[in-house]
Amino acid sequence: MSVTERVVIIGSGPAGWSAAIYAARANLEPLVFEGAITDENRIRGTLPLGQLSMTTEVENYPGFPAGDLSPYLKSSLPEANVPFRDPHMTGVTGPELMELMRQQAKNFGTRIVTDDVVSVDLSKRPFTLKTLEGQEYTAHSLIIATGARANYLGLPSEDLYKNRGVSACAVCDGALPRFRNKSLVVVGGGDSAMEEATYLTKFASTVYLVHRRGEFRASKIMAQRVLENPKITVKWFTTVEEVLGDEKKGVTGVRLKNLQTSETEVLEAGGMFCAIGHTPNTDFLAKQVKTDDKGYIVYSLPFRTNTSVEGVFAAGDVADSYYRQAITSAGTGCMAALDAERFLATKGVH
Ligand code: NAP
Repeated sequence: MSVTERVVIIGSGPAGWSAAIYAARANLEPLVFEGAITDENRIRGTLPLGQLSMTTEVENYPGFPAGDLSPYLKSSLPEANVPFRDPHMTGVTGPELMELMRQQAKNFGTRIVTDDVVSVDLSKRPFTLKTLEGQEYTAHSLIIATGARANYLGLPSEDLYKNRGVSACAVCDGALPRFRNKSLVVVGGGDSAMEEATYLTKFASTVYLVHRRGEFRASKIMAQRVLENPKITVKWFTTVEEVLGDEKKGVTGVRLKNLQTSETEVLEAGGMFCAIGHTPNTDFLAKQVKTDDKGYIVYSLPFRTNTSVEGVFAAGDVADSYYRQAITSAGTGCMAALDAERFLATKGVH
């Protein structure tokens, strides 16, 4: 076993890299587990660089207005890490933003392991971590930034059109040209589905909100906003049976099934947005850190990133079912690094 690490960061989205940048600049030489490149992670949507690496343009991350970023990418990233760039695209894309954050963390001395942490022992100090490749590490402090994954319906046709009309984030993708002035489908009946359907009416010609029951789970006020919006049609007691599309255009429609009558219908649509919840990536913690009933880590102090285990901090979507934005994740990543640094100082670990 190697020497005990001062700070181990698990996760490689905006929270993980922001934590790494701050911890590295505090001379803590953080070790980041960015995740393993496996088929299982590909299917679950948990590959290194997180959810943003699966999106296209990121228009709401401060500091990256539209413009030609190519020269900057070439000068700031090793050639092998410059993601493919559509020559018509301006501003930053999710994969580019994540590579830039990763590089920034590396520039300050962050060490990176491309492996999954599959189990931890937080019952004694230093903490012990085991990886998929069978390695063992020990750490005085941990920052958990493993994020969450969007839930999808699980249809094979849905997989086929991910990023080509199937999305799980209207706020991220809704304004893309492919969705403008088209009919769009939103699936779900919670606050996210209400928010996404309402948001998409800015761009879509019509929004169909497909919900499997006859009443919404969403708060009254958000549901009311949907029901009063003339651009939204609710399809009650309905599920999506198949996403329809073709190689060239991506999504062209959906086949719906009414659960009460078993009747099916085909809707023309340029996109389908799943808003059926997220699943935080906390299984590997085996309940050693306090979570809510959905598995999201619960902070133990207000405005701090402390968890129920002293020396374990959390950042980003793994502890946030509410905001789920790159900028809020980056913010809590920074906070977790500062909290870990102060924790180590009180324990005399330098
Ligand atoms: P949610 O409240 O868990 O709702 C998920 C919805 O998806 C439910 O309506 C559920 O149907 C449906 N669903 C789940 N699995 C499905 C499946 N396999 N097929 C079809 N439908 C399925 O999740 P959320 O809407 O993402 O909200 C998460 C949290 O964030 C909530 O606490 C919410 O209040 C909060 N939030 C707040 C705001 C805001 O206030 N601005 C915005 C977004 C989110 P059933 O109802 O039949 O179970």
